[in-house]
Amino acid sequence: MSIALQDRFVSDLPELAVRWQAESAPEPRLLVLNTVLAGELGLDPDWLRGPGLGLLLGSDVPEGAAPAAQAYAGHQFGGFVPRLGDGRALLLGELTDAEGRMRDLHLKGSGRTPFARGGDGLAAVGPMLREYVISEAMHALGVPTTRALAVVATGRPVYRETQLPGAVLARVASSHLRVGTFQYAASTGDRPLLTRLADHAIARHHPSAADAEHPYLALFDAVIAAQADLVARWMLVGFIHGVMNTDNMTISGETIDYGPCAFMEAYDPETVYSSIDSWGRYAYGNQPSVALWNLARFAEALLPLFDEDTERAIKLAETSLHAFQGHYDRRWTAGMADKLGLPHVPGDVVGGLAGEVLTQLQQNGLDYTSFFRRLAEAARGDAEPVRGEFIDLATFDDWLTRWRALQPDADLMDRANPVYIPRNHLVEEALTAATAGDLAPFEALMAAVGSPFEERAELERYAEPGQKEFTASFRTFCGT
Ligand code: AMP
Ligand code: MG
Repeated sequence: MSIALQDRFVSDLPELAVRWQAESAPEPRLLVLNTVLAGELGLDPDWLRGPGLGLLLGSDVPEGAAPAAQAYAGHQFGGFVPRLGDGRALLLGELTDAEGRMRDLHLKGSGRTPFARGGDGLAAVGPMLREYVISEAMHALGVPTTRALAVVATGRPVYRETQLPGAVLARVASSHLRVGTFQYAASTGDRPLLTRLADHAIARHHPSAADAEHPYLALFDAVIAAQADLVARWMLVGFIHGVMNTDNMTISGETIDYGPCAFMEAYDPETVYSSIDSWGRYAYGNQPSVALWNLARFAEALLPLFDEDTERAIKLAETSLHAFQGHYDRRWTAGMADKLGLPHVPGDVVGGLAGEVLTQLQQNGLDYTSFFRRLAEAARGDAEPVRGEFIDLATFDDWLTRWRALQPDADLMDRANPVYIPRNHLVEEALTAATAGDLAPFEALMAAVGSPFEERAELERYAEPGQKEFTASFRTFCGT
């Protein structure tokens, strides 16, 4: 099979690419392959399982391909790091998918690169399958995200707290351009490079910006809108990214870098799972304001392109940043209207009802995801399952009466409210088994979260929250 891998990033932006080769795998074994995504990319799944396995490891790339580690900088927990880059990842090149879109084919865990600093360049089976299941669940939930194509066990041990089996994740993204990519280009002081990067980003992601009066400001506005939309969608599904550093924020508006991320169970804006986020900087409820903070860092990188005069450039950036909240509120309110089955009700009424009921979920310690699904039953006339969850029933009944008077659409609610999300206890269970060699729980979990809105009686345990004690002590890890 001949694969047409382009080298657009490397040829447009050689200063941001270090050509590099993946480490070979002593005993490769395909653990999971996304056959639907492979099809979209024009890759034959049978070929990938056999002679094409080397593509998924980077050990056998097509003639003319130019695998490279990408350079980027980033604010990590608020502190600027001028040189991060792909320490254990490689961009293999770009593919054109069935719809004519350009998609990056990228590897994670493919060995040390010149950006590896102290790291070993490797990844373990557990965290790579974790990215696979959570990113694919996000896609199934309708949230823009990088996609997972495959996980291949390498046969090489990886040393963390214990010895773990190593793996490489092959992932696909509309690009890997990050806010941190612009921060890196800006910090070199090379204005033509920054301009070329911005032009590359416009061509790939926001082509209409090219025709605007101020193309670079239009690029900035488009990224603000895309990120406001993205983070609103995270909030609607209860997703906590966990490490919203500027190197983990894309220009495309796709979710990227599934490290310490997790789904919230009981509704609480202060929910944090990441073991390294001790101050709760990236808590669930902080995500919109962190996104705005990151976009301000993006603006700083772009300032020289906005206007020669720095004062004027700052004014323009501030005006654009002011639009974030409106974009966010509109997307969130529209999503909440669907979750509550009230698509034709004015936004302020939806916002008011949503705010009230979320406060009640928090006060009663209720699971965010299953609440909305049970609420649809109340819209159909059976309020008992959802009422049974509340301790403070009088307050909820008052809300319920007002909500029902608006004639909520239960079928719409079922299309907007997932039954299955990758719950922490289920993900842990699946990864522990997979690390020990049993992929059956992982496959069962994928089947559940791959069709999140379609309730299946035999999958009941996948719909239930974890034990409160488990969730309370649950921690996720970064850079693993
Ligand atoms: P992340 O927290 O995954 O976004 O990674 C932050 C930075 O650390 C990036 O520059 C990664 O390439 C790098 N990194 C993470 N883990 C490793 C590793 N095991 N070896 C080399 N670099 C790593
Ligand atoms: Mg990252």
